[in-house]
Amino acid sequence: MPKVRTKLVTWEEVHDWAFRLARLIEDSGWRPDAVVAVARGGYVPARLVCDVLDIHDLLSVQVLHWGRAAEITAKAHVKYPVPVKLEGKKVLIIDDICDTGDSLIVARKHLEEAAAPAEIRTGVMQWISSVAKIKPDYYVEEVKDWVWYQYPWCRVEDTTNFLEKIVAETGRHEWRFDELVETFKEWYGIDVGERVFRAAIEKLAARGVLKVGDL
Ligand code: AMP
Repeated sequence: MPKVRTKLVTWEEVHDWAFRLARLIEDSGWRPDAVVAVARGGYVPARLVCDVLDIHDLLSVQVLHWGRAAEITAKAHVKYPVPVKLEGKKVLIIDDICDTGDSLIVARKHLEEAAAPAEIRTGVMQWISSVAKIKPDYYVEEVKDWVWYQYPWCRVEDTTNFLEKIVAETGRHEWRFDELVETFKEWYGIDVGERVFRAAIEKLAARGVLKVGDL
């Protein structure tokens, strides 16, 4: 069994989920005037939803919550706020996934206070209903058993963090390339491909975290 249950997400899946999310919003008869992406995970889905719904007003708020892949390292808080008023507007907040729900809660509260829109709704691709503190207004998939979605826009970042965990937990800093890749596959149950493995390993080697003799 992998040490962290992980699902490797493809670009095709992202496109499909974003399309379906847009259709759910459309079918509900509600049309947002503006979309606010929760950075950074909400950027790609928000942009795709704007594409399908033909919405040109796209802003973002950056909320920090999860640090390293699959580990919460801080209380959710706004890093970069929405800098404009959205009075009278219907606003849709989009994130990739609602896990604990803290990021959406913080983003929503911030938007109410800072931008004062007429109405706010929330939409995500995945809603982890077993742990989330809130239910988004729109979601494509209800997830009951917690899993880490390895989205394609943060492949190198997640791989770097996952590899760093292997080094920290095994206490081993010197590896052969194949050995490290095999260990990664055993621990996480996914294969991110050679190019991503190399990019992540190069970053960790440059930081002095590990040494891979045959890179
Ligand atoms: P949360 O505040 O716990 O709802 O999650 C905040 C952000 O962390 C999400 O928008 C994702 O970018 C990331 N995240 C949290 N949980 C997961 C997960 N299970 N899989 C992938 N990304 C996640």
